[in-house]
Amino acid sequence: MKVNIESIPPEGCHLTLGPTEGWFVQILSSIFGNKFSDPSGKVTLNRLEDLVTFFAQVNVVVSYECDRCLNSFHKPYHFEFKMNLLPQIDDDIDFASYQDHCINLDHLIHESLILELPISILCNPECKGLCMQCGHDLNLSPCPLHPA
Ligand SMILES: [Zn+2]
Ligand SMILES: [Zn+2]
Repeated sequence: MKVNIESIPPEGCHLTLGPTEGWFVQILSSIFGNKFSDPSGKVTLNRLEDLVTFFAQVNVVVSYECDRCLNSFHKPYHFEFKMNLLPQIDDDIDFASYQDHCINLDHLIHESLILELPISILCNPECKGLCMQCGHDLNLSPCPLHPA
């Protein structure tokens, strides 16, 4: 989804994001595959001459498998991004810039999401994981066969 900055009215440009916005769903699919549901959110663009303020909220529920205990769980995310965008100068590849008077919302939202996502996925920060020897889920009880 590209927005020409000339088309941003004085009161700002407001977009509602939901499951019927193909480009938005596409971004989420490229990050979470088919393991997400309930996508929603909104985008606001305001412009003051060359300076464009980008504000976005993205809500999505992702189903994950815990890195430690392998149990499945759902994680609801509520992201908020705010950025000031300026025209790209030279070959400076900064994602907080735009080219040819166009704001590339796909790229902005994709990069913002990637930066916010956790590196390791745990069902909860205290997850005890599995017994190294037999795979017993230590969240349920200490391993009956291999007590620590
Ligand atoms: Zn876990
Ligand atoms: Zn064990």
